[in-house]
Amino acid sequence: ETYPLFTLLDRAAERTPRRTAIAFRNYRISYAKLRQLAEVMAANLRAQGVRRGDKVSIMLPNLPQTVIAFWAVLKAGGVVVMTNPLYMEKELVHQIHDSGARFMIALDLVWPKIEPLRDKLGIDKYFLTRIGDGLAFPLNFLYAFKAKREGTWRDLPFDGRHVLPWKSLLKGKTRHSTTTCSPTEDLAVLQYTGGTTGISKGVMLTHHNMSVNVQQITTILGDARDMDHCFLGLMPYFHVYGLTTCLTLPTALAATIVPFPRYVPRDVLVGIQKHKPTIFPGAPSIYISLMQQKEVGDYDLTSIRYCISGSAPMPVEHIKRFRELTGAQVIEGFGLTEASPVTHLNPIHGVSKTGSIGIPFPDTEARIVDMEVGQVPLPAGKVGELIIRGPQVMKGYWNRPDETANTLRNGWLYTGDIAIMDEDGYFTIVDRKKDMFLVGGYNVYPREIDEVLHEHPKIKEAVTVGVPHPTRGEMIKAFVVVKPGEKLTKAEVVAHCREKLASYKVPKQVEFRDDLPKTVVGKVLRRILRTEEEEKLK
Ligand code: ATP
Repeated sequence: ETYPLFTLLDRAAERTPRRTAIAFRNYRISYAKLRQLAEVMAANLRAQGVRRGDKVSIMLPNLPQTVIAFWAVLKAGGVVVMTNPLYMEKELVHQIHDSGARFMIALDLVWPKIEPLRDKLGIDKYFLTRIGDGLAFPLNFLYAFKAKREGTWRDLPFDGRHVLPWKSLLKGKTRHSTTTCSPTEDLAVLQYTGGTTGISKGVMLTHHNMSVNVQQITTILGDARDMDHCFLGLMPYFHVYGLTTCLTLPTALAATIVPFPRYVPRDVLVGIQKHKPTIFPGAPSIYISLMQQKEVGDYDLTSIRYCISGSAPMPVEHIKRFRELTGAQVIEGFGLTEASPVTHLNPIHGVSKTGSIGIPFPDTEARIVDMEVGQVPLPAGKVGELIIRGPQVMKGYWNRPDETANTLRNGWLYTGDIAIMDEDGYFTIVDRKKDMFLVGGYNVYPREIDEVLHEHPKIKEAVTVGVPHPTRGEMIKAFVVVKPGEKLTKAEVVAHCREKLASYKVPKQVEFRDDLPKTVVGKVLRRILRTEEEEKLK
């Protein structure tokens, strides 16, 4: 079925107008109200000059406003460019220039960062909002009070032309009839990749790409979709994983969304107790971190029925522990920005294989092919590159024809991930092609070593990278974060690995750290660790 992405909102509002769409602290908004706000805002955005295909940057953390703005931009015919509010100058300028956005909806707190860059950014109109904007009075009042005390309450330079208050977009009551949209041609979002392996690239995702991915996920949910669901909206909306699993998917299920603007473990635990979410889309680093909170046992987390874990490998040990703690079913899946993002999930009913990413969606083809000579499928049990073909695959990279040609070949998306398929058709990610390296002529997949390190009872987190060696090409270095209060030596780490791994896979160097550099969805930035090592050698 082909339709514009905002049809998801229209359907939810028509079928279940009174159901709560967003619950944020004490503020609640129904699906009917959400649609009305989105349509009024869409009309105002058009009055401000937004035309079909125009890029609109939304530089907000997860807030009710983000959800409203997302649907409003789509209904105005615009293309959403989600911008990470934590971006600093270089990343911000790159994304805004690259996308060509001329409109931005942003949080007041990021204004001091934007103001000195205004000439460079070339944005024509800014719409600024504050955390409590348009929400229930008590919250607004409290926020204002708190902000005043902390000195963050600023007079923003509203000039009525280039910098406007968010509220100006909510004026008027007329229902707006949405603009024409060709779902398979028009972009819904220009989504920037996580930037784990290099520069962040704009991925062109059409309305159909995005809506079909939601249909695919709901098909897998089967009868589990028929409950009155509530989603813990913790994964950032400015990453495609959070956008799909915490915004469009709940809308398709007419479920309640509980947005969390920041990850503060205690707030999340309190939030779970208060809102009783049934679905918790997350990433391994979040589940691991929650489990390690001392007071985790004091909270009732049993409302959570399903955890969808994606974006990075979840160490098997941790999956087991999380399951014990919550009773929830952890559904591991896989995706990438270029596929809107989900391509594989473990079945909800039927066999779920821990540590695997499951099986491709019914209408999605997945193959393992030789890493050098590409397209012929390798048999089960052979390691190769994962390639994908399906309706959720992007139109291409924005303004990067060479990269597009490299990644989309004969209708197949080359994921750059090394994987293996078993006899039952279940896939397991071995590693990323870019993370693999050679030691003494052998291919080393660092994820395998990371898993072994995670099995050590004193290790909180660990990652291995191939670092340049002056004479031997590359060697393995482990970066280890020890659990609080524990002590560990390099010799113990090495001895642990020796027991479980072939000798060429045992790290030669071990460095202890307090934490590891990560992306917004908690992926370890191996390239930063590697660059640091290269710098040391210079
Ligand atoms: P960039 O492409 O800019 O380097 P990125 O790879 O982080 O950044 P995303 O699209 O956010 O961009 O992430 C997709 C990648 O995440 C996949 O290609 C894969 O390497 C990894 N990934 C996603 N899910 C899983 C999973 N369940 N297990 C292992 N890896 C995963």
